[in-house]
Amino acid sequence: MQFTIVTLFPEFFDSALGCGLMAKASESGLVSFAFKNPREHTTDRHHTVDDRPYGGGPGMVMMADPLAKTLGSIQASSGKPGRILMMAPKGRPFTQAMARELAQEESVTIICGRYEGFDARLEELFSIEPVSIGDYVLNGGETAALSVIEATSRLVPGYMGHEDSGEEESFSAGLLEYPHYTRPDVYEGLAVPDVLKSGDHKRIAEWRREQALKITLHSRPDILQEAPLSSNDLEILKK
Ligand code: SAM
Repeated sequence: MQFTIVTLFPEFFDSALGCGLMAKASESGLVSFAFKNPREHTTDRHHTVDDRPYGGGPGMVMMADPLAKTLGSIQASSGKPGRILMMAPKGRPFTQAMARELAQEESVTIICGRYEGFDARLEELFSIEPVSIGDYVLNGGETAALSVIEATSRLVPGYMGHEDSGEEESFSAGLLEYPHYTRPDVYEGLAVPDVLKSGDHKRIAEWRREQALKITLHSRPDILQEAPLSSNDLEILKK
């Protein structure tokens, strides 16, 4: 899967994409990254990419032209920019479901904003999907893009050691994940639940489901509305 990242700060991505599973995935060619800097599509001496907002107000706005030329060059060189995402607080909330959707794509382009954001005409000129990673404001789209890249890449087949690693994770079945424990058996007087040491896979699965339901009810009752629940699940939630 190819990610093309439009950013004024390509160096921002160096360590995040250069270590751990992501480094392995890019070494093996499972994912690849290209960086396009809008400053390379400017004509003035200072490589200006921003200007003051019409109507006044604080901050600067990313000009349409350097970004449009950058997107144009991606279209011309690869022919396949894939879906074009624009990181923006006003965007569609990024979710695990969207990560699953994106992981099916051959290529995705991600535009990272800075300053107050983008000249609105960019969205009229290109088919762009604004995407938000949450209800808060970051300095720039790079942090948001990294979240999208990481959540998506780990769903590309072959990225994770065990192909089913992603299946039981939070949000995969509409619930948050059950709690995990590892050695030692007792830590600071706190023991691992007996059921997890029983070797009884059916009971373990039931316990985990119950825990996942309770944790979701406690922390994210909003997502329970959409989760596929059995009559047994509903009984557990009533307790
Ligand atoms: N003036 C904008 C607003 O109020 O919506 C915020 C601009 S922010 C300082 C600069 C850039 O950071 C944005 O253009 C966007 O690319 C990125 N950004 C900030 N918060 C984000 C979020 N929650 N999700 C996605 N991108 C975000």
